[in-house]
Amino acid sequence: MPSSSLRVADLHLSFGTLEVLRGVDLEVPRGSTTCVIGPSGSGKSTLLRAINQLDRPASGDVLLDGVSVIGTDPNRLRRRIGMVFQHFNLFAHRTVLDNLVLPLRSVLGLSKEEARERALRHLTDVGLADKAPYRPSALSGGQRQRVAIARALAMGPELMLFDEATSALDPELVKGVLGLMTDLSAGGMTMVVVTHEMGFARSVADQVAFMDQGRVVAAGPPAAVFDSPTSPRLRSFLSQVL
Ligand code: ADP
Ligand code: MG
Repeated sequence: MPSSSLRVADLHLSFGTLEVLRGVDLEVPRGSTTCVIGPSGSGKSTLLRAINQLDRPASGDVLLDGVSVIGTDPNRLRRRIGMVFQHFNLFAHRTVLDNLVLPLRSVLGLSKEEARERALRHLTDVGLADKAPYRPSALSGGQRQRVAIARALAMGPELMLFDEATSALDPELVKGVLGLMTDLSAGGMTMVVVTHEMGFARSVADQVAFMDQGRVVAAGPPAAVFDSPTSPRLRSFLSQVL
């Protein structure tokens, strides 16, 4: 898989007078998985949106394989960075197949046949080829999220961003989606995963980054972050979630 490294350097971003990212630094080596944890409102979603330029940072840098992507058109970045959201963001009035085919046609410019073939291959990878002709509403939440992941992967991204991809799912559906993310991580995709699933973070992440008040205040291997946290704010967060 041709994945890239990611570096976020001293990233600042404000909404009006509210400074949401206050100097974020993060290093994600190629092919590795970083889980981002932290309290609600600490800036995790904004960080992901700043990485793919959906929100414009005021200063700092975002680099893919050492090359800045600041100022890149978000539509062009969509080819390189896949994003999966809590609420799937599928086109409700299109079939599952079309949800994959349409961006392959419009963003990658594939022919109808090429797009169809690639879409079916990616649906097969997530075990949902038989759902191709249905609307998303006919699928379970877990299946919808797997379609959203397949849609992102079909674009051939160098980096995948997940924003609480399992938070809206019924508990019995979480495992299938986390399993898919685990396989993707093992397959060498570079991933940044915002999650409340501490078990997943501990077992799958190469690095866990703790965000608080717009900064990454602690980062390291899962065992170090979870078992011997040095930051008092991290200790207090973990005592609430573990
Ligand atoms: P998290 O994902 O860690 O819960 P967010 O990145 O969503 O945090 O939000 C961080 C802060 O930025 C919050 O105070 C939130 O209200 C604010 N915020 C997020 N998006 C916007 C926006 N588009 N306009 C104004 N404020 C925003
Ligand atoms: Mg969020």
